[in-house]
Amino acid sequence: REELAMVQGALELRTKVVEDVLTPLADCFMLRADAVLDFATVSEILRSGYTRIPVYEGDRRDNITVTRFYRRPLHCVFNDTRLDTLLEEFKKGKSHLAIVQRVNNEGEGDPFYEVMGIVTLEDVIEEIIKSE
Ligand code: ATP
Ligand code: ATP
Repeated sequence: REELAMVQGALELRTKVVEDVLTPLADCFMLRADAVLDFATVSEILRSGYTRIPVYEGDRRDNITVTRFYRRPLHCVFNDTRLDTLLEEFKKGKSHLAIVQRVNNEGEGDPFYEVMGIVTLEDVIEEIIKSE
């Protein structure tokens, strides 16, 4: 039954984490902060089909920024955040997209925060409704 599957999906949010459902940074449609919103760029945005487009500074796609003009707070979550927790955050927040970061302590140097990708409310809903 569909209802049972959805209840199961909802319960499984407790056992899944952001890293299981995120969209990897390499697959994200993003714009450079200095991109000009000319006809070509706006057409590209419309073709992408996405309504939220992260903006990055310089050449580093992991350097996601908030443009001063709009002052929209950037919502960040860690890769190991449980999906039920993420859902609660999306419900109370203004934003339905979060930047996913993790602590990278693999190299020789000091650990650092690394952007892994993005996650949206849709990714959580998907986990609820697709589950068998
Ligand atoms: P909405 O449906 O609210 O207008 P949308 O279709 O742009 O927004 P979502 O429905 O939030 O995007 O997400 C659909 C899927 O696309 C999710 O898997 C999400 O991670 C992914 N996604 C969202 N924005 C981007 C983006 N800019 N680049 C790549 N993937 C994205
Ligand atoms: P998102 O958070 O996905 O970027 P949003 O915050 O603009 O999008 P929704 O989260 O889809 O909007 O909707 C939140 C609530 O605001 C819903 O109750 C919706 O019906 C309402 N809403 C959305 N757009 C408008 C609008 N242009 N004017 C008034 N109410 C709106």
